[in-house]
Amino acid sequence: MSTIRENLEYVESRIQAACDRSGRKRDEVTLIAVSKTKPVSDIREAMDCGITVFGENKVQELKDKTAEIKEPLHWHMIGHLQVNKVKYLPGMAEMIHSVDNLKLAEEIEKQADRNHLVMDVLCEVNMAGEDTKFGLVPEKTEGFIRSISNMEHIRIRGLMTIAPYTENPESNRVYFRDLKKLMQKINEEKMLKEPMNTLSMGMTGDYEVAIEEGATFVRVGTGIFGKRNYQI
Ligand SMILES: *Cc1c(COP(=O)(O)O)cnc(C)c1O
Repeated sequence: MSTIRENLEYVESRIQAACDRSGRKRDEVTLIAVSKTKPVSDIREAMDCGITVFGENKVQELKDKTAEIKEPLHWHMIGHLQVNKVKYLPGMAEMIHSVDNLKLAEEIEKQADRNHLVMDVLCEVNMAGEDTKFGLVPEKTEGFIRSISNMEHIRIRGLMTIAPYTENPESNRVYFRDLKKLMQKINEEKMLKEPMNTLSMGMTGDYEVAIEEGATFVRVGTGIFGKRNYQI
């Protein structure tokens, strides 16, 4: 089995190669190390390799880990979020990637206001229309963003998608390409004070294709920390 350091070196080389292929600068892409289900010791190993941006998909786990790790890190909430958990996130998560309904947005607005901050968020879009996935349907994304665009404590930075699980990353290229097009189309409407500039797309199986199609965040878990064990 390879170490976290070796995995990170491999992932980094693949990110660099994808940037080179698509004429992008390496610093346009941020690697989020997805540490869900993994122990704090694994996070510390990644920190020793210079990683500072981590993604978690459960609020409780994020609370536990940030309570234990006092170093200043960038934590991203990437998973489906229940409205009653939002109150824990201001000051703890730097960005919420999974906003896909009005009730959730209203609660983020309320809790951010209460904490005197503006929360950076992404709207999650279900590009492939999979029943098992959360997220807005592409056709409703523009209207949804319009409906939350006047919330003063939410800054909509861009879009996020979770592409289908596949052995062939090329089959997800169309979803990444269309997510970027969707962001550009919504930006043309000029409904936001600042145009969106963030695309969170690409996971272990398909981050290279996602970078070629314009990802600014890739969320890599297994490729860094190895397989997850959900039994524990
Ligand atoms: C778990 C998870 C990832 C990472 O998945 P891997 O295939 O292990 O890289 C990325 N994004 C979200 C939203 C996740 O829940």
